[in-house]
Amino acid sequence: MAFAVLDNNFENLPGAQLELFSEFAALPQAEVLASTAAAAQRARELWTAVLPEANRWLGEAVVQNWLRHLTATGLSDDTLILAAPSKLMQDWVQNRYADDLLRLLRRVQPSLKFLHLHVDANVEMPAVAEAPVATAEELPVLPMLNLGAPIDAARNFDNFVVDKSNQLAFEAARRVAASDKVEFNPLFLHGGVGLGKTHLLHAIANEITARNPSRRVIYLSAEQFMYQFIRALRDKETFTFKEMFRAVDVLMIDDIQFIAGKESTQEEFFHTFNALVEQGKQIILSADKSPGDLAGVGARLTSRMGMGLVADIHPTSYELRLGVLHARADRAAVKFPTEVLAWLATNITSNIRELEGAFNRLIAHAQLTGAAITLEFAQRVLADQLRQQTRRISIEEIQKQVAQHFGLRLSDILAARRARAVARPRQLAMYLAKQLTTASLPDIGRAFGGRDHTTIAHGVRTVENLLLTDAALADACAALKRTLS
Ligand code: ADP
Ligand code: MG
Repeated sequence: MAFAVLDNNFENLPGAQLELFSEFAALPQAEVLASTAAAAQRARELWTAVLPEANRWLGEAVVQNWLRHLTATGLSDDTLILAAPSKLMQDWVQNRYADDLLRLLRRVQPSLKFLHLHVDANVEMPAVAEAPVATAEELPVLPMLNLGAPIDAARNFDNFVVDKSNQLAFEAARRVAASDKVEFNPLFLHGGVGLGKTHLLHAIANEITARNPSRRVIYLSAEQFMYQFIRALRDKETFTFKEMFRAVDVLMIDDIQFIAGKESTQEEFFHTFNALVEQGKQIILSADKSPGDLAGVGARLTSRMGMGLVADIHPTSYELRLGVLHARADRAAVKFPTEVLAWLATNITSNIRELEGAFNRLIAHAQLTGAAITLEFAQRVLADQLRQQTRRISIEEIQKQVAQHFGLRLSDILAARRARAVARPRQLAMYLAKQLTTASLPDIGRAFGGRDHTTIAHGVRTVENLLLTDAALADACAALKRTLS
């Protein structure tokens, strides 16, 4: 099976748009889907087929702790409905595993585009406890060719809309893709989230392999790189690890900022980097900041990363947003009036990913309800998303307010001290960050001094439980929410 184990990056999802709308639970169509016995049966079969795979790729703990508590209740061509017994479970699965799951599901049912999770406390525990469970020994050893994540053929230069905000990055990417000579090494693309960095990396990979299929292009996220490295260490295969990476022609590492604070990963990356450069291999990196601004990455490495061509992508302009929307609308099955596109481009300004998210949400709602897309329809469906945009609270703001509330310093919230007097407020801050911002658990982890996402999840869960019993904490939480919103 040519499935890359490390492909846990939602952004690589071929063609599929991942959308998780808990509010769908309220829509009659979802109920219809769920209520046909045949659909429910097919949903259960699909889910049962995927659990052993999830076990293989995501690990036994994930299946035991989370996935097996979900129940598949409905299935259409493009949507699988899963019921979770609690909000926590829903959020957790949504944040951490939804993309992987959708990818695994699509291996069984390629037409699947949406996973939709909702909370249903009445749902019975699923009867999947017997799903075969792989032991650690059975976990697949990574075959060399599965080193990277698959390239999404749908992201190419042709469907990348260019204006002055991304022109430099676009031209640089095209240049690297068009030449067999290494002109700048590395190519370093940087810019905020959702502005097209990953798209450009995939476009380069597609172009290079189309021109010369024998060139080995490896694309992976920095997180995946680190995971490979740790795994190699664990399996005492560091030699093979080095050899594998050094055998590639083009190495692309996405979101390199992830290695901030991870010294041994940086060290290994530095060596791999130098070895590849010496052999005249092309390296392409992306990050959310320029090399010089990457905090927590050693100076030796950042200066090395800045030695090639550094190209940045600026925030979007109205024209770019509208251009992207027109391109999408041309390909969509539903009709989008121009005024709706203009309204979206005016109101969703943060980045292209959110813009696409809003666009896809309109399509999904229109398809489920059979309604035509009008301005009023768009305004109604996207009301929540727009409210969040206007009332954007930063994690830093939350940390400051929490520190102040408890008479602590901001550094106490960020530091590693475990004393309860600081640990509790810190966990409350994590909880509020999860509740009041759209940041993912890994994002929150980074904002809390580079903590792991599992630490954040634990903090959030702890507070969720305590809020039920600890009145003082509940008061503090309510007061802080009032101050913050
Ligand atoms: P980043 O990696 O910078 O966070 P992505 O490359 O994942 O952002 O882009 C987010 C989404 O927006 C993707 O679906 C991508 O295809 C799309 N996108 C971003 N920029 C453009 C663009 N200039 N033209 C067309 N689509 C774009
Ligand atoms: Mg990206």
